[in-house]
Amino acid sequence: MRVLFCASEAHPFVKTGGLADVAGALPVALEAQGIEVSIVMPKYKTVHSPRSTVHGRDVEVAKIGKNILVYLIKNDTYFNREGLYGDSHGDYPDNLERFSFYCKRVLELLKEIQWQPDIVHCHDWQTALIPVYLKNTYSEDTFYNKIKAIFTIHNLGYQGVFPREEYPTLGLDGALFSIDGLEFYHKINLLKGGLLFSDILTTVSPTYAKEILTKKFGCGLEGILHKRQKELFGILNGLDYGYWNPETDTYIAKAYSGKSIEDKAINKEALQEQCGLAVDDRIPLLGVVGRLVEQKGIDLIVESVDSLITHSPLQLVALGKGETKYEKHLEALAKKYPHNVSARFDFDEPLAHKIYAGCDMFLMPSRYEPCGLAQMIALRYGAIPIVFKTGGLADTVSEGNGFVFEHYTEKNFLITVKKALTAYQDKKKWLLLIQKALSYNFSWEVSAREYGKLYQRLCNG
Ligand code: ADP
Repeated sequence: MRVLFCASEAHPFVKTGGLADVAGALPVALEAQGIEVSIVMPKYKTVHSPRSTVHGRDVEVAKIGKNILVYLIKNDTYFNREGLYGDSHGDYPDNLERFSFYCKRVLELLKEIQWQPDIVHCHDWQTALIPVYLKNTYSEDTFYNKIKAIFTIHNLGYQGVFPREEYPTLGLDGALFSIDGLEFYHKINLLKGGLLFSDILTTVSPTYAKEILTKKFGCGLEGILHKRQKELFGILNGLDYGYWNPETDTYIAKAYSGKSIEDKAINKEALQEQCGLAVDDRIPLLGVVGRLVEQKGIDLIVESVDSLITHSPLQLVALGKGETKYEKHLEALAKKYPHNVSARFDFDEPLAHKIYAGCDMFLMPSRYEPCGLAQMIALRYGAIPIVFKTGGLADTVSEGNGFVFEHYTEKNFLITVKKALTAYQDKKKWLLLIQKALSYNFSWEVSAREYGKLYQRLCNG
């Protein structure tokens, strides 16, 4: 079986979030099941592909796994920029042009290389036009019309919405700009197109698959998702256990495992030192790694710091990039509590690893969370997650391996963090909790098999 993976980012080439982790790791897990996978993504300025080879006028080819070809589409006008989707001024204004170009080019490329997949597996709004073109523009073309499309929603909060005036750029029949097509409150909604024209829809955790059918989480698309409920599946994301592994991680001060958990303290000290905090193993160290956006509940964290620090000694290390208001707030807290709070506003892969390895607890009070990988990474590194019970957080964290609050208020968040801080004082019990966290296995194996079954089902019609 042949599957083409279409994603706008993939680790180790370029990454802004969990999508890249998934698009880099799931194909490798599928290949291990005997599925032939290729990937197509844009070649941005920041794509790291030292061993890629040139293929034709605008494509480079790299390789991951045993034999997964990664086609990197070049276009200086669209992709030779610092950001993937935008810069400090916001989203790039020509994103519709950029990603419709990418989607068209993906399909053309297949014919050029004469590689006919059974399935195209598209991820998020940037790739959502691929099923639309496949089932409309190319519906009469025998090279394309047997190809099935599967679409994975990684975050319904990002839909690729553009002014209707840009519709001609898509090169689609005008009739498709309607309530039963890509039209959404008088605008173009690319994600909606992906949801309508793909054969099967998936999202990245079973709980989120249920949540998005509701008005609260459906972001205006719950009606369509309801109609397609029979073809909508929730499959929990996995984690690349080879890459995220405290036993072999070369970014961290000292490798450790469940058998040498005392070495986690060496990582904690190294992190405290690097961040200019008091070096003291007795002080609980809380970590945050993530996009600094409303979704991630950053407001809850920053607004709780004063109260938490007055309650008992603690330290907080935050790493993230995002909205200026959160950066400013965190910066002010770092100034106010120079020995307790450290914040860095960058995308810094090595520091992220150091935080997972060095912190005792990991804060992730997301308002909604389709799956979330950061809490799984934290568990893998023995950093106890404190989360809101939603989406993939509800599917991966429980009282057995972390701390969970059920009603989204600052008060409940504070109560839960304080509960964790109290538990931390009992060293024996805390160690047991770490061992429990380490015993969970969120590697890709199981979930990749679920995808394999869905692919099979699609191929069998
Ligand atoms: P999302 O995909 O919504 O951003 P996830 O928890 O699914 O959230 O995945 C986030 C991924 O991006 C994790 O691998 C996390 O370690 C990484 N990450 C997020 N922000 C940063 C950052 N500023 N520096 C380094 N890695 C980051």
